[in-house]
Amino acid sequence: MSVFSSNLQAVRQRVAKAAIAAGREPRSVRIIAVSKTFGAQAIAALSSTGQCDFGENYLQEALPKMALAKEEASARGVAPFVWHMIGPLQSNKTRLVAEHFDWVHTVERIKIAERLSEQRPAHFAPLEVCIQVNISAEATKSGVLPEALPELVLAVAVLPRIRLRGLMAIPRPGDASAFGRLAALRDSLRAEHADLTELSMGMSADLEDAIAKGATMVRVGTAIFGARGGATLERAPSSDPQDS
Ligand SMILES: *Cc1c(COP(=O)(O)O)cnc(C)c1O
Repeated sequence: MSVFSSNLQAVRQRVAKAAIAAGREPRSVRIIAVSKTFGAQAIAALSSTGQCDFGENYLQEALPKMALAKEEASARGVAPFVWHMIGPLQSNKTRLVAEHFDWVHTVERIKIAERLSEQRPAHFAPLEVCIQVNISAEATKSGVLPEALPELVLAVAVLPRIRLRGLMAIPRPGDASAFGRLAALRDSLRAEHADLTELSMGMSADLEDAIAKGATMVRVGTAIFGARGGATLERAPSSDPQDS
């Protein structure tokens, strides 16, 4: 068993323990293995243990890896991949994302959502989407502010080729009530939007807290793959030359 597989096994145990402690079914929490900066072999090693969900942040890095991993997987006949885009999205990248990913967690503007919907190939299922919320209202962070969320949800929910599924956030470290606030936002919107079942929150360091507050998807990198050399959470550039 590779070190990645044994790490994943330990993460599965953490998730199961946290879910049970919260009175939840362990399978109600999906583990997204965040493979950014790690290669196709690492992905293939995990997919052979039944891991389907992988998260990537950088499109240029992800696309060649995804193609390699798919080849490898189809040769072995393992479970199909579910690819999650979890990095900031610029409008000039939406087409490739719409063509290659199953989920996007980082929608924060209507323009990006409209492009994803227009560009989603007709023969694919609708793209599954979460709206990223700047839950700690940090000046430098991606995501829509909580007060602007209801309006964005209304606009995104009617787009034909994407399916709005939930909310995503990366809270400021130390913001202890952030996961609960994101869950409350999702709950308040769910009466009008029945598909809004997902809460993408929790990473290697805080997945237990997130699960206690209702996370349905945890995005786990370091605890599975080890430390990344210098890669950090990226935010979208403040000016996007393709926007006008
Ligand atoms: C890198 C990244 C993660 C994984 O973080 P770890 O602390 O390594 O588990 C999760 N979510 C997003 C958006 C990321 O960019």
